[in-house]
Amino acid sequence: MKYLEEFSDPVLAGKLVEQIHATVTKPWAMMEVCGGQTHTIVRHGIDQLLPDGVEMIHGPGCPVCVTPLEIIDKALEIAAQPGVIFCSFGDMLRVPGSGRDLFRIKSEGGDVRVVYSPLDALRVAQQNPDKEVVFFGIGFETTAPPNAMTVYQAKKLGIPNFSLLVSHVRVPPAIEAIMQSPRCRVQGFLAAGHVCSVMGTSEYPPLAEKYGVPIVVTGFEPLDILAGILRTVSQLEKGEHVVENAYRRAVQDAGNPAAIAMLADVFESTDRSWRGIGMIPQSGWRLSERYREYDAEYRFQVRDIVTEESTVCRSGEVLQGLIKPHECSAFGTVCTPRNPLGATMVSSEGACAAYYLYRRLETPAEVVTTGG
Ligand code: SF4
Repeated sequence: MKYLEEFSDPVLAGKLVEQIHATVTKPWAMMEVCGGQTHTIVRHGIDQLLPDGVEMIHGPGCPVCVTPLEIIDKALEIAAQPGVIFCSFGDMLRVPGSGRDLFRIKSEGGDVRVVYSPLDALRVAQQNPDKEVVFFGIGFETTAPPNAMTVYQAKKLGIPNFSLLVSHVRVPPAIEAIMQSPRCRVQGFLAAGHVCSVMGTSEYPPLAEKYGVPIVVTGFEPLDILAGILRTVSQLEKGEHVVENAYRRAVQDAGNPAAIAMLADVFESTDRSWRGIGMIPQSGWRLSERYREYDAEYRFQVRDIVTEESTVCRSGEVLQGLIKPHECSAFGTVCTPRNPLGATMVSSEGACAAYYLYRRLETPAEVVTTGG
């Protein structure tokens, strides 16, 4: 398939690995921000091909994983109400809240529906004028534009029974929070190409400068990741810290101006909690005052929810790159994709799920040794 197979070419991958080995003279630790990149790295064993001492730290860029428990519990409370049709992408249905998940609500008679686009949920609202239809709008800068456009359409078309439960988060404030952590070991970043295809790259040079870290925007195929690693270690070896765009086939430096304008119209910045990480100032979006009537949190008045996290789950440390998934005692035993204790085991982009899929038969010692 064009733009996929040629970016998995094993001969070219081997050459990039050779170049990385020829470049590196000392240990380095870099973080891939996005969960999609984590899956590529773990699936193809890219981290195991790197020179000894070069470590990939898996970042928090999995939207399902970082959606705070409080929002999950609000979703559960809204979805359980009579007269509500609760629409979501499928990956949110098994994310555990404090005591149950959306599948449980559905099995108990709640009208929970999987949709493939927020516009599908808007159609459901048009077809069911006597019901309240809520779409669960989570994710990073990538999923925010279609959600913003759907709310814009709802207002324009005068569809009063549609609302959005919003939990959007943004990558640059997360990078800032990671770099400010006293336990931070990250010396460079692979930034997520799809996020930059929307927002552009202009938010990253101040971060690279402030924290002295190279930031290389790259994609999701094996060659994208290897090229991103090569550029990052090249900068680190030379003592440089600039932003490079290694994903020019998708990312313009200015991003997508139409999407950015839509976001600016519908959303406004707000503090957001990240599951397992905590509050990061101005790290998310909520509906702006103009669109507040479409905000499900306001419409359903689900405000003071008391949440209860699993005492076993260490997904917060996984999301901050402080431990690898198999270092959690529940990994692969009481916590599996069929019975997840934390969101990082549920999501197809979660690091725990990636390790379970591709590495659960390896002992931690083997992984630590080969993975640096
Ligand atoms: S393996 Fe399960 S319990 Fe452990 S950190 Fe991952 S999601 Fe949480």
